[in-house]
Amino acid sequence: MAVERLLPTTEARELIQLTRDIADKVLTPIVDEHERAETYPDGVFATLGEAGLLSLPYPVEWGGGGQPYEVYLQVLEEIAARWAAIAVAVSVHSLACHPLLAFGTEEQQRRWLPEMLGGNTIGAYSLSEPQAGSDAAAVACKAGPVDGGYLVNGTKAWITHGGIADFYNLFARTGEGARGISCFLVPRETTGLTFGKPEQKMGLHAVPTTTAHYDDAFLPVERRIGTEGQGLQIALSALDSGRLGIAAVATGLAQAALDEAVAYAKERTAFGKPIIDHQGLGFLLADMAAAVDSARATYLDAARRRDAGLAYSRQASVAKLIATDAAMKVTTDAVQVFGGYGYTRDFRVERYMREAKITQIFEGTNQIQRLVIARSLAQ
Ligand SMILES: Cc1cc2nc3c(=O)[nH]c(=O)nc-3n(C[C@H](O)[C@H](O)[C@H](O)COP(=O)(O)OP(=O)(O)OC[C@H]3O[C@@H](n4cnc5c(N)ncnc54)[C@H](O)[C@@H]3O)c2cc1C
Repeated sequence: MAVERLLPTTEARELIQLTRDIADKVLTPIVDEHERAETYPDGVFATLGEAGLLSLPYPVEWGGGGQPYEVYLQVLEEIAARWAAIAVAVSVHSLACHPLLAFGTEEQQRRWLPEMLGGNTIGAYSLSEPQAGSDAAAVACKAGPVDGGYLVNGTKAWITHGGIADFYNLFARTGEGARGISCFLVPRETTGLTFGKPEQKMGLHAVPTTTAHYDDAFLPVERRIGTEGQGLQIALSALDSGRLGIAAVATGLAQAALDEAVAYAKERTAFGKPIIDHQGLGFLLADMAAAVDSARATYLDAARRRDAGLAYSRQASVAKLIATDAAMKVTTDAVQVFGGYGYTRDFRVERYMREAKITQIFEGTNQIQRLVIARSLAQ
């Protein structure tokens, strides 16, 4: 059953309807096939881009949709309920557009933003390295100064849609310590940039995750976003927004698992009645519904703070923590509702459970979210 959403405008209601129509016609018919075969769905991003769904929270003057974050996130939740891998990729694309808008010069924005937000290109975000994930200040990939720019050497890891994305936010070392990292905007065709084989993941099979290797890759100085040494600040500021995207994706996954569990529990009978009428199972479903509603409420609260120009970093971490833990619990319980069938690939709930796990890990593990929340309390 479609979620009845509280939306601020008619335009927002139309956007949700448009997303559901595209999900019905384009995503749902092919999701199972691509997730099983681990193949990238060519054309899906072009469809989303043409519909204007790839740049919703960005200003209209730069080619974006001019939508509040609370609307963008609900669109993302709708996509995730049908296909989490695609929703994650949309969220990462949005994350990758943030540094240029927030820290780029007007000249850089004029040159690159319209193309990045135009719906024909997709972006990736490369902060993590094989030996540096949670401890982002420990990145080692180096951007050494040369005439007119930088020569980059090193390896970035875990890049969502690595090799497929058209542009990459690169965070590389230009000096010592946490203030020795700088941010760059790298086109895929840069000489000296190559990508590893897709990782063999537990879920999100349709969108590849790869390493990127920089071997004497030259980046002209105008490809640096922000000042030298400002990279970690830029990376973390982008993640505040990105974490809200992951919270919305997790909520969509949890909603999908709940919907399928309820439908199954109404049909399946045991001891002479539908299993939903056994109080033990009805209460399990009630807890699942409460978790989904709480997840949505926390991300919407953070998004509305962001839209109102208030500080929202702590609320973004709370939303990521609550929504992704909810997704893990709800999807696991959905498998329980299906009994033995839930443990097979004949039903989608097993996929939802595998997909939920990553939401607790990327864009800051939930241990790191607690660290952010605790630090904000100690201030
Ligand atoms: C499918 C997938 C897609 C990804 N996409 C991207 C992407 O597009 N771009 C990108 O840059 N990265 C991406 N990542 C990387 C992801 O963000 C990192 O895996 C994550 O930040 C954790 O880092 P790590 O794997 O190095 O784990 P580690 O940092 O080694 O952590 C290992 C464990 O120790 C815990 N831990 C670490 N430090 C602390 C602490 N101080 N207190 C308590 N516990 C702690 C962690 O919570 C975790 O449980 C992706 C990862 C995956 C799996």
